[in-house]
Amino acid sequence: LTPNIAPFDGHLIAPQTRAFLDRKHKLLIDGLWVDGETGETMETRDPATGLVLTEFAIGTAGDVDRAVAAARRAFEGPWSRLSVAERTALLTRFARLIAEHAALLTELEVIDNGMPRFIAGLCVDNCVEMVDYYAGSIMRIQGTTIAPPRHVAAEAEALTYTVKEPVGVVAQITPWNVPLAMAILKLSPALAAGCTIVIKPSEETPLSMLLLGDLLLEAGFPAGVVNIVNGLGATVGQALSEHPDVDKISFTGSTATGKRIIQAATGNLKKVTLELGGKSPVVVMPDADLALAIPGVAMATYFLQGQNCMAGTRIFVHVDIHDALVEGLVQFSQGMTLGHGLDPTSMQGPLISQVQTDKVMGFIEGAVAEGATLVAGGKRLERPGNFVEPTIFTNTTRDMRVVREEIFGPVMAIQRFEGTDLDAIAKLANDTPFGLSGSVWTQNLGWAHKLVARIRAGHVSVNCHGAVGTNIPFGGYGQSGWGREFGQESLEGYLETKAVTVRL
Ligand code: NAD
Repeated sequence: LTPNIAPFDGHLIAPQTRAFLDRKHKLLIDGLWVDGETGETMETRDPATGLVLTEFAIGTAGDVDRAVAAARRAFEGPWSRLSVAERTALLTRFARLIAEHAALLTELEVIDNGMPRFIAGLCVDNCVEMVDYYAGSIMRIQGTTIAPPRHVAAEAEALTYTVKEPVGVVAQITPWNVPLAMAILKLSPALAAGCTIVIKPSEETPLSMLLLGDLLLEAGFPAGVVNIVNGLGATVGQALSEHPDVDKISFTGSTATGKRIIQAATGNLKKVTLELGGKSPVVVMPDADLALAIPGVAMATYFLQGQNCMAGTRIFVHVDIHDALVEGLVQFSQGMTLGHGLDPTSMQGPLISQVQTDKVMGFIEGAVAEGATLVAGGKRLERPGNFVEPTIFTNTTRDMRVVREEIFGPVMAIQRFEGTDLDAIAKLANDTPFGLSGSVWTQNLGWAHKLVARIRAGHVSVNCHGAVGTNIPFGGYGQSGWGREFGQESLEGYLETKAVTVRL
């Protein structure tokens, strides 16, 4: 890139980013970029400056109808007639196009979401890997042969087998915290399975999905296979969740919205996959290697400014190393550079919006009022944009809001424990309705594995946190969700199993 334009907080963006922002951003329905039926638009802003980046068209329930109809036609028509090899080639081409547009995708993600550039770059790399992974999995979709039922015929006179078929037309609704990666981890397994899609990105972060729309068209996916309807949750999201011709909905977002989606989906009993909120525990045992634990525990909370479903925001630390860990965490937090994601020195960017910032500040003020001890951060920066300091509370207790509720901001709540009764420690860790992630920090292999077995969460790490990967299933216990994404389990979620018996 040759950066030559500096409209955002003095930070340079590339000419192609400027050109992309200056375009008219429409809905993608049936292979064409079209206006929404009302012509309404929304603005998207750079959360580091508050400046408007661009406007984009938003849809209505009528636009959702058009998109679902296009997806249905594609599902029954050209898409279903493609061979496995052709579907693989399309996904492979899509992966290459993402790689070729890495710089532009990275920059759009930074200015739309606020994340530091190095994280956005890693997300783009992971997206390429993920599309390739699911392209490679298409040829491995397979059923099984089973002994036939006795009442039909003798075993040698009959054949029973299963085939895997795509679920059908799928609606996908994504949040704003990692917009590009969220879109790719939903689109690629659904396309690999042979589904067609209507996707609704978060209204806070529409940009990277709009560019993906171009790349899907350029890759050659038939019209209607992927449709993009930007818009509000209450209109477009609700219409998709209720739609009688949508066979499955895959949602990532808050637990409260997830519950609404389940209710809306009852009309036609569409299949539902939910990736929801978390309040993940981080357990630091007395023998933890502090050189590893201090940065690891800090980033378990601060990664993506704490706007991370896996954020390890409930820290349980053994009394013997409590003070040493806290001292290290305070130093780490105070050494973090906050700034625009395009600034290469930024370790932490802004929160997504003013509303989110007010919410996070409300949690911080509430914790102080409830008697927690503020040992680092706690303030909103006095500069444009939505910056909140990395914040640490000690002396927190199980009933405080800062311990019970998902904050989605850079706020850590530390509690201390005594002794090494693993059942008692696991009880502390499991004291939450959520169950998405968690981590254990120890050098004792026995403690590590026994705690992993006791923690009720879909994803537990030892001496690291939130170690997700393309091929590793990810999802929640309890109120953190239904089903799994990533890996082969995500693909399974977009497939139906049909059993066939043939009397020979
Ligand atoms: P949100 O629930 O407010 O919104 C998510 C999406 O749902 C957006 O596209 C929104 O427009 C849409 N939506 C809102 N109301 C809707 C409705 N009534 N019907 C249908 N769609 C509706 O969540 P958010 O604030 O965008 O994201 C943050 C939340 O997402 C956090 O709770 C976080 O933990 C969760 N999250 C979970 C995972 C995971 O994998 N488990 C990953 C990322 C984020």
